[in-house]
Amino acid sequence: MELRIEPLAAEQRKPKCTDAAQLGFGRHFSDHMLVADWSGDQGWHDARIVPYGPFQMDPSAMVLHYGQEVFEGLKAYRQEHGGIALFRPDMNLARLNRSAERLSLPTVPADLFLDGIMELVRLEQEWVPAAEGTSLYIRPTLIATEAALGVRPAQQCRFFTILSPVGAYYASGFTPVRILVAEQLSRAVPGGTGEAKTGGNYAASLLAGNMAHDRGCDQVLWLDAVQHRFVEEVGAMNIFFVIDNCLVTPALSGSFLAGITRDSIIKLAPSLGLAVAERPIAIDEVLEGIRTGRVQEAFGSGTAAVVSPVGAFNYRDELFTINNAAVGTVTQRLYDTLTGIQYGRLPDTNGWMHRL
Ligand SMILES: *Cc1c(COP(=O)(O)O)cnc(C)c1O
Repeated sequence: MELRIEPLAAEQRKPKCTDAAQLGFGRHFSDHMLVADWSGDQGWHDARIVPYGPFQMDPSAMVLHYGQEVFEGLKAYRQEHGGIALFRPDMNLARLNRSAERLSLPTVPADLFLDGIMELVRLEQEWVPAAEGTSLYIRPTLIATEAALGVRPAQQCRFFTILSPVGAYYASGFTPVRILVAEQLSRAVPGGTGEAKTGGNYAASLLAGNMAHDRGCDQVLWLDAVQHRFVEEVGAMNIFFVIDNCLVTPALSGSFLAGITRDSIIKLAPSLGLAVAERPIAIDEVLEGIRTGRVQEAFGSGTAAVVSPVGAFNYRDELFTINNAAVGTVTQRLYDTLTGIQYGRLPDTNGWMHRL
């Protein structure tokens, strides 16, 4: 697909935030964005890299009324020995298209997604921060732009990608989080959209997030919506436990996200001498295991934090503390190994890094 590039002149570009401590997450955006349009008649067309800025949209645009939207999140990392590389962008493309099919959106061609994003990051190279633990967050998004109020799949859609330099998630060291086990609210149901990366899932999760904060917790542990018994995800991350020295994570059920970080951890574990099991995990098993010491560690996994240690679960206002709320050795090793590959400090034996 032909890609038109309209770069800003150097003097029109924004000043870059040079203080890594000020970056935060998703607060600064680069100078350009990738945009392409789709219509039922024409298919994908008009792929372009243009200055970052607001879209003009009709107030009846379908995405604003019925939430026909899917997105992705991945990162570009400055490499230890020079250059910039993206982590497993082909996995994000595949997942975006699975999400798109679930939401009746058109799938995005591989060349538009992969070549378009590579070209955008190449143009915005100076926006990839260099300080330890920082990266360039990439947010591909697909929305229904057709102006009409009928409930049906839109015949006009837009794909766009914006870039945000992000700070180190653990600027002041690894901090184990406290998690509220959500018993009343559900994030997703079997047959629903839980496996799609779509904005509506997030909107539906905000209330439980507020309840967690009211109880002094950072995140929510979602249980399955039918029996409220099996562990699914934590916040917007997948969840792992170390139980009897084995790495255990819920088997994909269709109602939570197939994380790329989750997949990477499962693939890395054997090379670190860790046995892995994907299986249903009941909340009673977790709580009982914390009591008896069989549950040795717990952590969330996702692109933003990579690995996020869990210090304690709040279940019915009782606190179940894991490993004295200290970071476990398996958690630390997986974090060090995965970030080592991402920043080019360790060999990329799986071919996960895509260099510009
Ligand atoms: C994006 C996301 C994850 C993590 O996926 P990664 O590919 O590892 O970043 C987990 N759960 C939800 C709900 C998500 O949206």
